[in-house]
Amino acid sequence: SVPASIASALSSGARRGLLMKGGAVIEAAAHVRHLAFDKTGTLTLGRPAVVRILPAPGVTEAALLAAAAGVEAGSSHPLAQAILRRAAEAGIAPLPAHAARALPGQGVEAMLGQTRAWVAAPRHAAAMGGLRDASEAEGMEAQGMTVVAVFDQHRPLGLIALRDEPRPDAAEALRQLKAMGIEATMLTGDNPRTAQAIAGALGLGFRAGMLPADKLEAIRDMAAQGGVMMIGDGINDAPALKQASVGVAMGSGTDVALETADAAILRDRVTDVPALIRLARTTMANIR
Ligand code: ADP
Ligand code: MG
Repeated sequence: SVPASIASALSSGARRGLLMKGGAVIEAAAHVRHLAFDKTGTLTLGRPAVVRILPAPGVTEAALLAAAAGVEAGSSHPLAQAILRRAAEAGIAPLPAHAARALPGQGVEAMLGQTRAWVAAPRHAAAMGGLRDASEAEGMEAQGMTVVAVFDQHRPLGLIALRDEPRPDAAEALRQLKAMGIEATMLTGDNPRTAQAIAGALGLGFRAGMLPADKLEAIRDMAAQGGVMMIGDGINDAPALKQASVGVAMGSGTDVALETADAAILRDRVTDVPALIRLARTTMANIR
């Protein structure tokens, strides 16, 4: 019977770490045409590491790291965690900071003593006069690194380049989705050069430079053309997850996201996304 096949699909999914909140989710997942992936923590491991430290002329590496770590000290953003970890490993104490304020999708601002300082995306830093020549940053971005510029109200302090690796099974998952006739797009707040390097290597389309509200808008656009599934870590994707026909939480933010998501992937495998859709399709085919 119908309820019995749905119940059995829900429980066999759960045994494999694919949680779905009820039969309506199975039906919606079976009809998905477009898939939107958040980048950080979903297609990538979400654990960026500092790979290059480039102080501005007249600034030492230690001074650059101390200022950056001070500004980032109160931030839970993965880039902040990476910078704080690198400073700690180098035995460099973050400069004491106060009045820290996140600039969503752009960076963070704080007071270091009497001086206002920032760690921000190069584009944002250049607009504020904290980065005189963006070409070095852009070259590293084109190689798949995420670059942040560190500057204060008086002068540029330098660049820090970070790298977040794709999850090992991401390319395979995208290959399977393509074979299933599902079109996938990566949505990211990161810049178009870094996005191109990562999406190009994985073989999917992308939209870059997106603020959380832009991601929501993109989901609305896709939903107008058919069922859309959004996969995110839920940390700042909750509105987009809610807007999608099926919102799927994956990765470190799963606990938070499960409140707004329709489904969750507990084992951090990207190939569990096509597996979930296959399970839904098979279940619906057996009912008809
Ligand atoms: P994603 O879509 O990859 O999760 P976010 O929207 O979180 O990206 O951030 C977009 C961009 O804003 C980052 O690539 C970075 O340049 C900048 N940014 C955001 N938060 C911070 C931070 N705490 N420190 C430095 N840069 C940040
Ligand atoms: Mg994010």
